[in-house]
Amino acid sequence: MAMPMRRVLIANRGEIAVRVARACRELGLETVAVYSDADRDLRHVSLCDASLRLGPPAARGSYLNKTLLVAAARATGSDAIHPGYGFLAEDAEFADLCAQSRITFIGPAPDAIRQMGDKIAAKKLAESIGVPLVPGGTLDGGKEIAALAAGLPYPVLLKAAAGGGGRGMRVAGSAEEFAASFLQARSEAKEAFGDGTIYWERYIGNARHIEVQVLSDAHGNHAHLGERDCTLQRRHQKLLEESPSALLTEEVRSKLCEAAVQISRALDYRSAGTVEFLYDADRGSFHFIEMNTRIQVEHPVTELVTGVDLVREQLRIAMGHPLDPQVAHALRRGWAIECRINAEDPDRDFAPCPGRITRFVSPGGPGVRVDTHCEAGTVVSPYYDSMIAKLIVWDIDRERARLRMLRALREFVVEGIKTTIPFHIAILQSPDFVSSAYNTRWVGEKAKEAFA
Ligand code: ADP
Ligand code: ADP
Ligand code: MG
Repeated sequence: MAMPMRRVLIANRGEIAVRVARACRELGLETVAVYSDADRDLRHVSLCDASLRLGPPAARGSYLNKTLLVAAARATGSDAIHPGYGFLAEDAEFADLCAQSRITFIGPAPDAIRQMGDKIAAKKLAESIGVPLVPGGTLDGGKEIAALAAGLPYPVLLKAAAGGGGRGMRVAGSAEEFAASFLQARSEAKEAFGDGTIYWERYIGNARHIEVQVLSDAHGNHAHLGERDCTLQRRHQKLLEESPSALLTEEVRSKLCEAAVQISRALDYRSAGTVEFLYDADRGSFHFIEMNTRIQVEHPVTELVTGVDLVREQLRIAMGHPLDPQVAHALRRGWAIECRINAEDPDRDFAPCPGRITRFVSPGGPGVRVDTHCEAGTVVSPYYDSMIAKLIVWDIDRERARLRMLRALREFVVEGIKTTIPFHIAILQSPDFVSSAYNTRWVGEKAKEAFA
């Protein structure tokens, strides 16, 4: 079953393209970078063995252009494509196209992407094997809006079936609010995902976001690497993640991780994936929400507590190798925290802050990792998401990891643009963070105080 792999085209940009290139290099694989006109000078381009221009900055003409990417792989003699996260990472059609072109897509089979990419189908699969869901249901597009609104257990969250990246989601607090929220969610979903299918879930007001990292190979082995707590979010987008979660008892942890492995098994999954749950702190219960069939932004916190290189495992699995024995025996040790450093101005409601970075000094020292594509002179472009770096630290327990993160954040110098570094410093110092007493609404409701 071994698939020969020699040269990997990285169909992405920025920090994740750099991350993938590093894993390839350590495995002795050649790398091909692609770039839009906005990204010619970025780190991932100079780091790879070869590079190819895709087109204009807008993603449609570059990083989202499927036929162009497959043609680029052909033209450069690449036998595999790594999609990173975002862009085409969860696009089943793209995975199909790769297969038709005899290019290895480094990720799961197209059918697994398709099934989990439809969040309604994903919930059905989880339900069929007895994994608890957030109560919810579909909304029949043929019905009158007033009929859809009637009888729902408000507050509800209206979500896009094809959603991702926190988009296409609106709370409706009451039947009166339903129509406006529904229309907003639907038009945002159509715009972002080309599919306006909306479903509803009971809105969990006091929620923690806990997700489980899974790894599965092409030989039927399914493993998990523990959980991550990604509760600190702004507008449903993660800001800070940690592993393990301070919330879980060993008993609950093993149940959740086992549920995630069962979902991978039921899907006949292959590659790295993440099964996401919400913990309802008022009811003390866990509920499946979705599965992401790709590498996640926050994968490094799992790497630091387990010692497993998740991108290397993705590549090895795609080559047909069984899971490294290290995965099954991975001991989870210590605590890791990640802060997403974004080019945004926390003083101006996190307005994006593109521009030229004039000075960039990464923190270092024991237990500190920085994943970034930036350096002095890098121009942060307005065309893509605003993350410029991920700062990840490890230490033996949560409090020491917190203090190490504060130290590293204060060491981090970025000049020329505004960043979220001061915001992270405020969060890490707040008593609620210290005692891990927060939910997914905390940043929206309490962080202003902490930041002032
Ligand atoms: P993660 O949860 O890995 O932690 P995010 O939800 O933060 O993932 O998304 C990672 C990146 O991928 C972000 O840039 C986000 O905008 C993008 N993204 C996620 N899902 C989709 C999607 N379905 N379509 C387009 N972009 C997406
Ligand atoms: P995405 O595909 O955009 O990542 P998710 O379904 O994973 O969408 O939800 C993103 C975030 O939205 C969650 O981490 C959580 O903070 C919030 N969320 C999702 N579903 C619910 C719900 N039923 N109740 C409360 N919050 C929710
Ligand atoms: Mg999610």
